[in-house]
Amino acid sequence: MIKFLDLKTINQLDREKYIQKFADVLDSGWYILGNEVKKFETKFSEYCGSKYCVGVASGLDALILILRGYKELGKLSDGDEILVPANTYIATIIAITENKLNPVLIEPDLNNFLIDIKLIEKNITDKTKAIMPVHLYGQAVDMHKIKKIADKHNLLVIDDCAQAHGAIVNGNKVGGLLSDASGFSFYPGKNLGAIGGDAGAITTNDFKLYEVISSLRNYGSKVKYYNDYIGLNSRLDEIHAAILNLKLPNLDSDNAKRRKIADYYRKNITNKNIILPNTENEESHVWHLFVIRTDNREKLQNYFIDNNIETLIHYPVPPHKQIAYKKLNSLSLPITEKIHNEVLSLPISPVMSMDDVKQVVTVLNNYGG
Ligand SMILES: *Cc1c(COP(=O)(O)O)cnc(C)c1O
Repeated sequence: MIKFLDLKTINQLDREKYIQKFADVLDSGWYILGNEVKKFETKFSEYCGSKYCVGVASGLDALILILRGYKELGKLSDGDEILVPANTYIATIIAITENKLNPVLIEPDLNNFLIDIKLIEKNITDKTKAIMPVHLYGQAVDMHKIKKIADKHNLLVIDDCAQAHGAIVNGNKVGGLLSDASGFSFYPGKNLGAIGGDAGAITTNDFKLYEVISSLRNYGSKVKYYNDYIGLNSRLDEIHAAILNLKLPNLDSDNAKRRKIADYYRKNITNKNIILPNTENEESHVWHLFVIRTDNREKLQNYFIDNNIETLIHYPVPPHKQIAYKKLNSLSLPITEKIHNEVLSLPISPVMSMDDVKQVVTVLNNYGG
């Protein structure tokens, strides 16, 4: 059986180091907002090229807290419109509606699955206050183009980097200098994944936002028992930060392994029933997912199962068709719906062997459609 993502193997590579680290944190007697979190925030902002980083409890909380922070700073208010790609993972949309803001769903570009930049300006109204691009599947959106539009219309740019740790666009890493604030997830399956639970972070160059979010994630308190905001409990745990500190130095080489697999797939998959993913330049894609398109997805997925290969669908139902968002159900977003009907994600990970990669290619090239 070729697994979609073998997390157990990934996390066994440095098993002894992790166990030692768990023991160190246990023995330190300090479990919340200590030195490991501080160290991770410093290292991760250095990695991304941002001035500040705040560790939080999840990727969803990272996005929620960015928007909440801008509300506290008076830059966003209830009912403001936020432009966001229609084909994102639901977390991006939840972060918006959770803050009583209105998501305006923009169709993606079928060639790269990313927000169709040509459609952004048409959707700007006097209520539009921010653009939230999503670097979906690991591919960075062209942030210079986004920034140009944002500057012209005085909009905030907040990017969802949950799938794109380390992707480089226009010479900068995502989460660095290209946006006002960025949200990251360290969900175990992400390119940089925590062990034992959820984790996330925000990067920004905006000191005021940094200060507000540092407080909001900790009950709205900077000084213990004195509360400036009605905050949340959304702190990055010491134990997670400690493991992330061990893993961060391997992120670039892990991404390079993903690139090598993606490159092999793209050069060797020749089946005419399959549309391969595109990328304009190597470094802008960290291949969190390798997503192909095909007309009869169910047939192809069953064929893979018959051949002992696990594939997944990211995602079967777009946000506007979810039961949770009844108000959005009547929207017509044909490109988004087409994508959700046709996409299939092939196995890819830093621990996937080239033999397995070749096996996936052989099986796929033999598929009759
Ligand atoms: C994973 C993910 C999130 C949410 O991250 P969690 O840590 O699971 O809360 C947000 N946006 C996108 C695009 C994601 O893939």
